[in-house]
Amino acid sequence: MGIRLIRHPVLANYYLTYRCNAACSFCDIWEKPSPYVTPESVERNLRDLRRLGVRIIDFTGGEPLLHRHLPRFLEMAQRMGFLTTVTTNGLLYPKRAYELRGKVDMLHFSLDAASAQKHDALRGGVPCFAFVQESLKIASRLGEKPDILFTVTPENWNEIEEVYRKFVAPYKLILILNPIFAYNAVGTSLLPAEALHALERWGRRPDVYLNTAFLRLRATGGNQTIRPVCRASTATVVISPEDRLLLPCYHAHEAGYSFPIEGRLYDLYRSQYVRHLQKLEGRWRFCEGCVINCYMEPSFAVEISPYFWSSLPSTLCYAWRKWGLLGSLRLLGRPLKGWGREQAQRLRRWFSFPPKKKGAGFRPAPAEVPLSMS
Ligand code: SF4
Ligand code: SF4
Repeated sequence: MGIRLIRHPVLANYYLTYRCNAACSFCDIWEKPSPYVTPESVERNLRDLRRLGVRIIDFTGGEPLLHRHLPRFLEMAQRMGFLTTVTTNGLLYPKRAYELRGKVDMLHFSLDAASAQKHDALRGGVPCFAFVQESLKIASRLGEKPDILFTVTPENWNEIEEVYRKFVAPYKLILILNPIFAYNAVGTSLLPAEALHALERWGRRPDVYLNTAFLRLRATGGNQTIRPVCRASTATVVISPEDRLLLPCYHAHEAGYSFPIEGRLYDLYRSQYVRHLQKLEGRWRFCEGCVINCYMEPSFAVEISPYFWSSLPSTLCYAWRKWGLLGSLRLLGRPLKGWGREQAQRLRRWFSFPPKKKGAGFRPAPAEVPLSMS
């Protein structure tokens, strides 16, 4: 579609578990049985993600705060030089806020309406609203700067104003507007025209983050399989709670592929098999019309295209508003620090032991899910 700027993956969507203590109407993940990732596999995979060039780790779920080792994973990731991000429904934040303090670079609280009645109804009747309110107070006392993540649906778009007035402005936070998307017969991508216009207006405010390329993509009918904009498989790495690499993306992996990682993520990701599947990103039958934000955002960032230019101002504005110039430079420098530490460790290892030979002819274990391309 455009000129590729960055050839390596930039983001890892690391699913710690699919379990969730809410049951949102626009999500089906909470219905899946799921294990929790193990600390050993996380440590090994983070090392390989560094080697692959990933910069941001999104520890996600399910509800990531259900994982008791989350603070340890975040610390590990920051030490290795990654930026970290976590989105929570707030139910466990009041209990775990102290352990998480300073460990999440982009912490998001989900809040989709200004009243308990409406927000909790969207969250499957689970009383999240009161916990988000409490979480905001605690985060503010701890000096944390969470963002409010508002999933915009046809039912709640007219609540943006009130959420902004009651929760964003008083705490001087950033409001992230996340237009709903459809997948696996869950949710809808259709927002009424007046909602899209309202989003456009909101996106112009400095303390509101809306990637305007999302709206542009919707206006042009979403991803086209003939000329795809989606770079889900090459701009992101998706890891499941079962320690499997999912392709082409989480939302479509059940119709795609899933490979056991078994401690060899780097080799697996660069194997012929995966490379072949990566060439199909955005070209699968189910990719037609797709507007899944989680993958479109990194896709827009790695390639120069009209979407890249639409995304750039909102991304820069977010960084400016959240961290300022010095803070942004400090965060940009973190991967270099992590890299320096790794090189020092490598040198230490090299002087203590003979270097290991790299395994040749790596073959991933067979995928369990059949290829289903029309
Ligand atoms: S809180 Fe998040 S993971 Fe849990 S059901 Fe809602 S959208 Fe899904
Ligand atoms: S177009 Fe959508 S469904 Fe297809 S790989 Fe990309 S994100 Fe997944």
